[in-house]
Parts: sequence; structure tokens; C-alpha cells
Amino acid sequence: MNHGFLIDMDGVIYRGTEAIPGAADFIEHLDEQGIPYLFLTNNSAYTQLDVVVKLRKFGIETSTEHVYTAALATAEFVSQQKPDGAAFVIGEGGLLNALNQVNYAISSEHADYVIVGEGRTMNFEGMEKAHRLIANGAHLISTNADTWCPTDSGPRPGCGAIVALLEAATGRKAYHVGKPNPFMMRLARKKIGLRTDEVTMVGDTMDTDIRGATDLGFHSVLVLTGSTRRQDLAMYPYAPTRVVDSIADLVPNHRGRRAA
Ligand SMILES: [Mg+2]
Repeated sequence: MNHGFLIDMDGVIYRGTEAIPGAADFIEHLDEQGIPYLFLTNNSAYTQLDVVVKLRKFGIETSTEHVYTAALATAEFVSQQKPDGAAFVIGEGGLLNALNQVNYAISSEHADYVIVGEGRTMNFEGMEKAHRLIANGAHLISTNADTWCPTDSGPRPGCGAIVALLEAATGRKAYHVGKPNPFMMRLARKKIGLRTDEVTMVGDTMDTDIRGATDLGFHSVLVLTGSTRRQDLAMYPYAPTRVVDSIADLVPNHRGRRAA
């Protein structure tokens, strides 16, 4: 039977600036065997090329067609809903670039959507503009609902937290495009050209990776190198298909470089 993988990055492939042992071996194994895969990330700050360059630093050689981000899914969503529209963006290069590719204008005057992505460029002036555009009828969209992001020096507020501020201020609810939204999960499956029961999602986060896979009927593997500890599993009404200590456990034995 055909099979392939959707692979989360943060907490699966790397943690901060550290590569997780076995990650490069697993990707080499997929490439050698011709097994389809896609890196699937909710981080909308980076372009596909940014991700490829970042992965190279962790010893992983891949190419842009193996990368799909919440920025790309968000651009796809708005272009399907309102082709050739305009958006006001609180976000970074990955999101701006994705919107540009679907012929979206970026404007702080007239916007069909206020789109919030991951990043560190948020300021109060931008939040004021966003608030007023939403009050004038723009729809509030976020690339992802993650309320915090891990960094080298500890957690920082994520896209979901910034959106929550705008939700509270405007009384409007955001639409979140990234994992676990089936919109993004389904687009990712189509990109690797497989059927639902041929796809395995590998991730470290129950609310996004494992929830998304469960909703779509994909297989799922939870790795314990990221945001979830084994004892956390009991809190969730859904469970991954399989739990492993790390991505190294998915590398076949014959490759011989299994890491602890
Ligand atoms: Mg992760």
C-alpha cells in the first residue's frame, strides 16, 4: 500500500537551535525509498525557501515542494473565498509572500480580511488599524491558533494570543486556518497525492497535529521531544495511533544510527 508522511517541525525535527537526533536519518530514509512527505508547519513567518535553508542548518537536505506552511494555506483560503482581494497583515515575510503569490493586495486602508500570522512585528499602531478595519467589516483570520511559541530563551506569545486580543476588542471571532483545521490538513494530503488512510501525521502537539490527523482520519504518531509529555495524554478525548520517544524511533534499524 502507498503511504506517506506529514511532518511537523518544531519539537519533531528541531528544538530551538538544536536538531533532534534521528530527524535527518528519517528524511534520508524517506528520500531513498521514494516515500512522499511534506513538512507541515503552523509557523507562518517563513517562506518555503526560508524553511529549506533553516532545515539545512539541522543537516536536512530538502526542497521547497516538500514544505507547506499555514501562510500558504491561509493565502489559498482567502483566494478561494474572495479572489484578488485585499488584506491588512500583522505578520512576516512568509505570509506577505504567500498572499502576493495569490494576487492579494496588502492595504491598511481597505481590506477584505485582517490576517494575523506568527512573528515579532506586532505593534499597537497595527492593532489599532486592525481593530478599525474589522469594525468596518473586514473579516478576522489567523494563520494558526497556537497561543504560544517555544524559543531558545523560553516561550513567547503566539499568533493565537494576538488574535485573542483583537477578538476581545472587536467582539468578533477569528477563523483559524492552520492545523488542526481540516482545510489545511486536506490541502496537505492533496499535495502529497495520497488517500486519507495512506497518510501519517508525525507531530509533538495534541491540539494541532494529533487533533488534525484524528479529524481527517489520518494515522498519527506523537513524538515526546516537544510540547507533550506521556502523562499529558490522559487529558485528551482522542489519542494518537502511536506514541514514540522521538522521530529516531521511525528510522528503520538497518540504517544503524538510531539515537536515544
Ligand atoms: Mg510542533
